[in-house]
Amino acid sequence: MQEKINIPSQVNTVLNSLENAGHEAYIVGGCVRDSLMGIQPKDYDVTTSALPEETKEVFRDYHVIETGIKHGTVTVMVDKEPIEITTYRIDENYVDNRHPESVTFTRSLREDMARRDFTMNALGYNPACGIVDYFGGVEDIKQGIIRAVGDGEKRFEEDALRIMRALRFAAVTGLTIEEETIKAAHKHKELLHNISAERIREELSKLLCGKEARSVLMKYVDILGVILPELLEMKGFEQYNHWHIYDVLEHTAVALENVPPVPVLRFAALFHDMGKPATFFQDCSGVGHFYGHGDVSRDMAAVIMERLKFDNAAKERILRLVEKHDMQITAEEKAVKRALNKLGEEGFYDLISLARADNLAQNPLLAKRQEHYDKLEIIAGEIIAKEECFSLKSLAVNGRDLIEVGYSQGPELGAALEKLLECVISGEIDNKKEELLKKAIDFSII
Ligand code: ATP
Ligand code: MG
Repeated sequence: MQEKINIPSQVNTVLNSLENAGHEAYIVGGCVRDSLMGIQPKDYDVTTSALPEETKEVFRDYHVIETGIKHGTVTVMVDKEPIEITTYRIDENYVDNRHPESVTFTRSLREDMARRDFTMNALGYNPACGIVDYFGGVEDIKQGIIRAVGDGEKRFEEDALRIMRALRFAAVTGLTIEEETIKAAHKHKELLHNISAERIREELSKLLCGKEARSVLMKYVDILGVILPELLEMKGFEQYNHWHIYDVLEHTAVALENVPPVPVLRFAALFHDMGKPATFFQDCSGVGHFYGHGDVSRDMAAVIMERLKFDNAAKERILRLVEKHDMQITAEEKAVKRALNKLGEEGFYDLISLARADNLAQNPLLAKRQEHYDKLEIIAGEIIAKEECFSLKSLAVNGRDLIEVGYSQGPELGAALEKLLECVISGEIDNKKEELLKKAIDFSII
């Protein structure tokens, strides 16, 4: 494992400035962990013995933002790069398994490290001292282990979000949660009810985008079931259908693994078959069917996303995918244009991604269907490249044009535009203004 860490020059400036002023300073947490694992860190957090006021004094010639001064965090802009600097601190007296009641600053790095969640996150580094590792984080990373700092039970009782973080790190890094730590997580899983929807959603989103999301979903469904009880129904739910080789939960996990690691797609995959248990019925030959499960899944997804406070844009995109995940599109231009119109360009490609993954999570006998999705993407690519008309936006007439030829504002106008679009898509007329207006006048006479 690499033990010398490359630090961006802006971060070095921060470390040097603090040290030159007589303070200790280290990069800490995720950036050290990621560097040791050969992953490019997203950002570099700095921890220091300097009190916030002292930090501000050191950086008096820089632009300093008091991002979380109460918790000891200031952000310093160095060459346009924001660097968060936090004073060593101890979090005390957790209330409701979430918020420390008070924050005490300390001059001891060890005490600051002791408040951190997992040994792999309780690491500091600076070029002069190398790695600071009070809790065996380096060895745990080498062994591939996620271990709570101190007593796991206490740590999860203090802040139950750490349970979600353990699962998230397992999904993202592929490391294994150590035995005592996971035991403690199971024991205290109900405390997740005390955690805010936003924090849960953020961790869940990262978890689902992890490369090991499938196995985490399967292994820890009882923990995730505290926040998503809908998953518990899916576990072990057999499909009694020749086209399926997994139960509903595993099918979901495999589908999820096969969509790109983008939150909208991963959530859509998670939700897409949630309505199966509620719609299941077996015909007289014992074969399982799930008629209308797309709608039920959509309704369930809507309730979950409301609960977890998703923003409206994500909600809409995900709901449409869940509802339409079984939509059949034939590999011909007209059908693809209709689908592009219904789903929008982005929605169309999202749907194909989901459909591909859904297919890969079914009986391999159906794998040939991937070729169908290839064709759909080729056809769509051509339509878009040739800028052919598939939506009202690209229709050569608009509402105003129709009003000029005698239409009045209202639902009939909208319906006429839709009909014109369909005429263009079906090839009945060209997307030319004169032809379209003539047709529109014909409609109004009829
Ligand atoms: P990411 O890659 O998502 O940024 P991270 O480990 O850096 O992962 P952050 O939320 O940025 O996570 O937190 C930075 C550091 O703060 C962590 O590495 C950890 O040391 C500490 N930390 C964050 N959240 C908690 C928590 N709930 N309990 C204890 N320590 C925490
Ligand atoms: Mg971080």
